Amino acid sequence: MLNIPDSEYKRIVVIGAGFAGLNFAKQFRGKRYQVILLDKHNYHQFQPLFYQVAMAGLEPSSITFPLRKAFQKYDNILIRVAELQRIKSAEKRIVTDQGEIYYDELVLAMGATTNFFGNENIAKHAYPLKSVSEALALRNSIFEDFELALMEQDFEKRQGYIDIVIVGGGPTGVELAGALAEMKSHILPKDYKELNSREVDIYLVQGGDQLLKGMSSKAAKAAKDYLTEMGVKIIFGTYVVDCDGKQAVLKNGDKIPANKVIWAAGITCHKIPGLEDDHYVRGNRIKVNKHLQAEGLDHIYVLGDQAFVLDEGYEYGHPQVAQVAIQQGSHLAKLMQGKTSKPFEYRDLGSMATIGRNKAVVDLPKFKFKGFFAWLLWLFVHIRSLIGIKNKLFVFINWMWNYVTYDQSLRLIIKPSNRNKAKSD
Ligand SMILES: Cc1cc2nc3c(=O)[nH]c(=O)nc-3n(C[C@H](O)[C@H](O)[C@H](O)COP(=O)(O)OP(=O)(O)OC[C@H]3O[C@@H](n4cnc5c(N)ncnc54)[C@H](O)[C@@H]3O)c2cc1C
Repeated sequence: MLNIPDSEYKRIVVIGAGFAGLNFAKQFRGKRYQVILLDKHNYHQFQPLFYQVAMAGLEPSSITFPLRKAFQKYDNILIRVAELQRIKSAEKRIVTDQGEIYYDELVLAMGATTNFFGNENIAKHAYPLKSVSEALALRNSIFEDFELALMEQDFEKRQGYIDIVIVGGGPTGVELAGALAEMKSHILPKDYKELNSREVDIYLVQGGDQLLKGMSSKAAKAAKDYLTEMGVKIIFGTYVVDCDGKQAVLKNGDKIPANKVIWAAGITCHKIPGLEDDHYVRGNRIKVNKHLQAEGLDHIYVLGDQAFVLDEGYEYGHPQVAQVAIQQGSHLAKLMQGKTSKPFEYRDLGSMATIGRNKAVVDLPKFKFKGFFAWLLWLFVHIRSLIGIKNKLFVFINWMWNYVTYDQSLRLIIKPSNRNKAKSD
């Protein structure tokens, strides 16, 4: 049994301290409820900036926030670092890797994970970007491969080290491609002078015929033009169907000799043991009603990427983005505290993506624009959304520094050492 003090208050157990779960729990600070916020990590991760960690633009600590710090002053919110393993809905209990807990109300906000579409080779060899540790692994691999390329005399093998294939032309793929193209132009010629940076090829493979699906055609075209101008090779209308750490194989039969394939091509949710298959829809999202309650499951609510609310205009559910998660977290907190009885309504505030310095695209509900002002707005929105004043300040200083110097200073290859091995080394 997980050690939790007894309380006279109603117990709400929240699984996942992402945008949805954290925002939900914050609405209960100092309230007459006992909230147990459970996550497998002891920190919140700001996923929209993972790609900057992978590209050595930001330190992991700038985009993560320790959960305990967010609730230091509130005794009614308890943090537990544990992983959900099973739900026993009939008993109102959950099983975690650290023991069981009962709940009065259960809120699932576990987000999504990378979808490799069942391809084991891709799952084994491609680089996903769904956690800060995966971002760090990618950063290490990029710089290790540049080091190896310097020492490699064989042209084909060298290309394998320096060429990179990005799969998926959504915001993550586009932002990664832009950041890599900037690294190729501004960093490589200085740090790796002996390498011919013109030989570095960045491929972006997109299954459909436009980038940034979900944004306007104007934004899609602008992103394509920016990336093409920056030297990214965009391949439309085909998929990566295999990779082995040496090459990527496309559905049209082409092969790209690149050791690194970055997978930004889709997400899916984990199924939870204890819930029947008929609770899930496409992408393993859980069906919820407009009050965010899981259909057919009493006292269980679902938020964020994991929730599927059937809503007019959203036949595939709401987009799996931060705004939906944040708005749902606030709404459910109000419903549970009796501050509203209205159904959840998503307010689309717009979407944006950045491609490089002074290059971004913004789709607001009534206004679409690109270029320097779009880029400024992107910077402002991301700094504002970060959690913690220190993080906001560090990211701002980092970005200003990069802007003035055309340089990021975090190109370190740091790997956790094996303690026993380290002792014997
Ligand atoms: C690389 C990348 C870039 C993105 N860029 C943008 C962007 O620019 N704009 C935008 O709006 N959205 C963006 N998104 C999407 C956005 O980050 C998600 O929609 C949002 O994080 C969803 O919030 P959530 O709370 O549902 O889940 P998450 O933020 O994913 O949080 C889920 C939490 O649950 C925890 N968890 C998972 N399983 C368990 C378990 N079994 N037990 C305990 N804890 C568990 C996880 O550790 C995590 O803390 C991006 C996502 C990625 C990956």
